[in-house]
Amino acid sequence: MGDYFERIVDVEVTGEEAGQLAERMTDWMVAEGLITRELSGDGVYSLTVDKGYVPGPNWARAVADASDPHWLPGPVAVIVGRHYHVGGQGADEAEYAVCPRCGTRTVVIDYPEQFEADEQVWRPFKDAIAAWTETGEGRAPCSTCGASVPVTEWQWDSGFALGALAFDFWGWPPLSTSFRTAFSRQLGHRVAEHTGKF
Ligand SMILES: [Zn+2]
Repeated sequence: MGDYFERIVDVEVTGEEAGQLAERMTDWMVAEGLITRELSGDGVYSLTVDKGYVPGPNWARAVADASDPHWLPGPVAVIVGRHYHVGGQGADEAEYAVCPRCGTRTVVIDYPEQFEADEQVWRPFKDAIAAWTETGEGRAPCSTCGASVPVTEWQWDSGFALGALAFDFWGWPPLSTSFRTAFSRQLGHRVAEHTGKF
């Protein structure tokens, strides 16, 4: 099941707090026996990191169904730093962005008529995301109400997320609802979840 990932992105932590929180979450997962501190690059294709933590003796506690004896999970990569994350094998852009002030949805990729982003529509978002990645601040204007909205407040489609801390579970059977809830509670923040293939 090598190249398949499930990702949990913390969409609220700041770039400054992300490193410490990553350590705390790693400690928690090690204490629960879900991972060990041993690192491996086997089947890891994450953004910016090429190694993850090897599963621990209790990894099955995190998954919905561990009954397949041949399905052994791969490493868990921890990605610290402000990035945009995309699920699936899809585009590099968000499909749409919803303005939190006026609720207008700006369509970037007009599925099913189009399969590529409208460059002109995406440009201000792209530039604002690049600024946020660099400095922690980035705003894009809403073409409907004119508000200048931080990129971390725009609401994106479920396949696109901005965050300073992400966890890629490589080749794990589907994570259980209770684990995902416990994980988010440990983070103390809202999360976005992606699945996809490398
Ligand atoms: Zn607006």
